[in-house]
Amino acid sequence: MNIEKLLDLLHKEYTNPKTELENWTTTAQFMVAVILSAQATDKQVNKISNKLFEKYRSVDDFAKADIFELEPLVSSINYYKTKAKRIIDANKFVKENFKGEFPGSIDKLIKIPGIGRKSANVILQEAMGIAQGIVVDTHVTRVSNRLGLVKGEENAEKIEKLLMSQIPGNEWKFFSQSIVLHGRYICKAKKPNCTECILNKECPSAFKV
Ligand code: SF4
Repeated sequence: MNIEKLLDLLHKEYTNPKTELENWTTTAQFMVAVILSAQATDKQVNKISNKLFEKYRSVDDFAKADIFELEPLVSSINYYKTKAKRIIDANKFVKENFKGEFPGSIDKLIKIPGIGRKSANVILQEAMGIAQGIVVDTHVTRVSNRLGLVKGEENAEKIEKLLMSQIPGNEWKFFSQSIVLHGRYICKAKKPNCTECILNKECPSAFKV
């Protein structure tokens, strides 16, 4: 698939793509939303994050949180006990190792317990405006394979490298954000909506999945 054409079509469709996680204003809050969203939907997180973020705002707030006060606020999210502990541990790590400031580098962010490369990329892009890689989640994996940008590849790190070698660096953030939305709403896992898809004239998998 021609990358220039792909980006052109995506830009026409997604003029201002961004995360669907809401209610956060600080990087610490965004990291917490990302932790909560693992194997949960953004909507489920948004339902509880308003109240949660009224109480906790900074790295320090989360690092000092009492687990028994935090747990009830996140209890509607799956694995909430594990996630509550992870929220406190991750913020304690930022406080103790980075003086409470989020570092602007993937290599440092992935040192935070519970933060892998995908989460680090999302945090950097959405909360800090820095693109050092491409977010590879389940949507990006599926859509990239269907578009033929990668072939039969499911390993996130390999996919990211392959995509980074094809997509210009100044488009990494846009590509991540737009493909996540495209996978969530159009190129769905079970029933891709090829009829409505703006990429259907270019996509090698159009009407074949
Ligand atoms: S044409 Fe179909 S398979 Fe290809 S990206 Fe669009 S929805 Fe997905």
